Amino acid sequence: MSVIINDTCINCGACIDECPVEAIVDEDDNPEGEDIYYVYSNKCVECVGHHDEPACATACPTEGCITWDNIGESPEHRSDITDEQRSSKEPVVE
Ligand code: SF4
Ligand code: SF4
Repeated sequence: MSVIINDTCINCGACIDECPVEAIVDEDDNPEGEDIYYVYSNKCVECVGHHDEPACATACPTEGCITWDNIGESPEHRSDITDEQRSSKEPVVE
C-alpha cells in the first residue's frame, strides 16, 4: 500500500474525485468486501507530481481516516515519509 483508508471512513465520497490516478473505489467496489472506500496500492502515487500532499487526505473530513502505509506496489511514493511513519500508520493529514 501507500496510503490506506481505515475503518473510520464514513463513505462520504469526498476523496474519490480528487484522486488524479483513479486509485480509489467506493464501498460497492471494495475488493476486500468491507463497507468502506478503498485505495488500490498498485495505482496510488501518493499524489507525487500532482499535489503537494495526498489530495484524498486533504479532502477527507474524517480525522485520521487516511494514513501512510508501506510502499508496497505503489508506483511512486513520497520519499520524505519515514519507515516509522508508515509502520505506525500515521495520519496523512493531522
Ligand atoms: S494519495 Fe493521491 S494518488 Fe493516492 S489515492 Fe490519494 S489521491 Fe489518489
Ligand atoms: S473522504 Fe474520507 S470518509 Fe469520505 S469516503 Fe473518502 S476516505 Fe471515506
